[in-house]
Amino acid sequence: FGIDNTDFTVLAGLVLAVLLYVKRNSIKELLMADDGAITAVSTGNRDIAQVVTENNKNYLVLYASQTGTAEDYAKKFSKELVAKFNLNVMCADVENYDFESLNDVPVIVSIFISTYGEGDFPDGAVNFEDFICNADAGALSNLKYNMFGLGNSTYEFFNGAAKKAEKNLLAAGATRLGKLGEADDGAGTTDEDYMAWKDSILELLKDNLHLDEQEAKFTSQFQYSVLDEVSDAVALGEPSSHYLPSHELNRNADGIQLGPFDLSQPFIAPIVKSHELFASNDRNCIHSEFDLSGSNIKYSTGDHLAIWPSNAVEKVQQFLSIFNLDSETIFDLKPLDPTVKVPFPTPTTVGAAIKHYLQITGPVSRQMFSSLIQFAPNADIKDKLTLLSKDKDQFAVEITSKYFNIADALHYLSDGIKWDTVPVQFLLESIPHMTPRYYSISSSSLSEKQTVHVTSIVENFPNPELPNAAPVVGVTTNLLRNIQLAQNNVNIDDTNLPVHYDLNGPRNLFDNYKLPVHVRRSTFRLPSNPSTPVIMIGPGTGVAPFRGFIRERVAFMESQKKGGNNVSLGKHLLFYGSRDTDDFLYQEEWPEYAKKLDGSFEMVVAHSRLPNSKKVYVQDKLKDYENQVFEMINNGAFIYVCGDAKGMAKGVLNALIGILSRGKAISSEDAAELIKMLKTSGKYQEDVW
Ligand code: FAD
Repeated sequence: FGIDNTDFTVLAGLVLAVLLYVKRNSIKELLMADDGAITAVSTGNRDIAQVVTENNKNYLVLYASQTGTAEDYAKKFSKELVAKFNLNVMCADVENYDFESLNDVPVIVSIFISTYGEGDFPDGAVNFEDFICNADAGALSNLKYNMFGLGNSTYEFFNGAAKKAEKNLLAAGATRLGKLGEADDGAGTTDEDYMAWKDSILELLKDNLHLDEQEAKFTSQFQYSVLDEVSDAVALGEPSSHYLPSHELNRNADGIQLGPFDLSQPFIAPIVKSHELFASNDRNCIHSEFDLSGSNIKYSTGDHLAIWPSNAVEKVQQFLSIFNLDSETIFDLKPLDPTVKVPFPTPTTVGAAIKHYLQITGPVSRQMFSSLIQFAPNADIKDKLTLLSKDKDQFAVEITSKYFNIADALHYLSDGIKWDTVPVQFLLESIPHMTPRYYSISSSSLSEKQTVHVTSIVENFPNPELPNAAPVVGVTTNLLRNIQLAQNNVNIDDTNLPVHYDLNGPRNLFDNYKLPVHVRRSTFRLPSNPSTPVIMIGPGTGVAPFRGFIRERVAFMESQKKGGNNVSLGKHLLFYGSRDTDDFLYQEEWPEYAKKLDGSFEMVVAHSRLPNSKKVYVQDKLKDYENQVFEMINNGAFIYVCGDAKGMAKGVLNALIGILSRGKAISSEDAAELIKMLKTSGKYQEDVW
């Protein structure tokens, strides 16, 4: 890195900034195009101050959410304001409003913002970000707000979006009430961070607004009505109302679905092939191939596939049973005011809502315990619930450490007594709704234009505190495993399947192995110049996008050879890690790629659990290859890291800081600064989760 290289880095940074700006604007156009429809459904008006005023709201909660977490917390917070203080709260996605009138909003505003990627705002917050970052000094002098950021301290730009919003709001003259809340998913404390922030803000609001606190009382945002019979307009779990038989708008004459397909309307994609990637059956990793033909969906190598799961039959039964619900009940929900949107297709049945639309597994929160106090089936249970909802440590010992989901926890508390005192409306409004899970695409859009490959490790482990209880399982990955077994005609009695699914889906929409999906653009991209050297670090399923990268290079070089072009490919060095040889992903494919790339591709493998061998991780291998890695970085290599955000990404960063510091004889701090510059210029990219 001489001066020339630094100049190049700065220049590359500028180029990247321009590209990002252009990309953002095209994303913005896309969102603006979508917005019309969304607004028409919710209020018909995008002017935030007008909507608040016209609907007589006395509190505004805004959220900017990427995967649904910020939305969940914003909704929980709004519900508590209603339940405890009887406030008339409007809770809104920033994507659906314009903010030129933000300074005229006559009420206090709470803002929930997730950070995504390199300290970025969520995709849907482009408009909001533009507005607050360009507001003049003093332009928001009437605004009183508080803010809760959702982030992950294992990323460099921890809560970057919330901090940026905060800086700009203050610069525009807004007044913050209370301290900025910062949830840290990296430390696993999001829920407790929220509870601490929320308690302090509620105290402050009580004083500021002279509120009287009442015992929390659930107030529904919807009119709930029970219907008699299933018609074509009743959703049975369809991911959006476009898939209902009564809705013909989005199909052509041949019955083929028409896009655009995105977060609001996924594509029902056939899984044309899937297979198990691990050799031993103690753990599972599934390779699935989704066919996007006819959808018009385009993906680029390095993008993510969002998969929309449904809950396992056992989990649905457990939930229905503890609340004593009738799965056949057909209901409709109508918003009681126009600022509220029903989060899933209605009318529907209780069974369909629980199977397809609600996130009924996963850890239960202390906040949920507080809201359930009002519905406890008897006084003893009420006391226990109250105690646990107030005692963070006891809650951790009795509930969280046992990996209880809501049904497990309530069964444990009531010793099996049914919770039929809990109204179904409360459950429909308080249980987070199902969100898609994201997967780094492991195919290349150059070699597989219509097919997207996904590599998913199946989440299934024994409950450490309760060895006789059911294992702790993930929703989507076990669904993919169920599909893989069925598709390959494996007799499931011969397997150790922990959960089972209805694979046919609502009205057989998912029959023959289909699932709802959409593609999410990422910025994880190979350098456009093929002669640029590339260092890839991806242990476990972190190797997924690198399989895509290498397939891309193979397809590119083959097409060049065919065209008679003599292109030279830069060195592509992949650091991969697995426990042993049983879980070595795509083991048979890599030598083929190396052959086809005439030695430009090399793979270095670290095994952490080989019998009679010492544990070796990708970080250790980086050090073993120190000279080569240093030389490649010096020659302008792009560095990519993918996989576990908690341990690996930090370990790799430290190893690279060490390599640069020794290679250039500079301090670790200076080496860390150099890596920051590489990040800014797009030459060090992370895709970690
Ligand atoms: P979920 O149902 O979401 O559960 C998550 C975890 O919680 C599981 O470990 C589960 O066992 C545990 N759990 C369940 N119940 C409880 C409870 N009551 N208490 C505590 N814990 C509980 N994954 C891959 O395998 N491959 C990839 O290529 C990949 N790429 C990704 C790319 C991005 C950008 C992101 C954000 C994530 C990526 N992931 C990838 C992770 C993936 O999105 C999912 O998070 C993962 O597969 C688990 O999904 P699931 O639905 O099976 O588990």
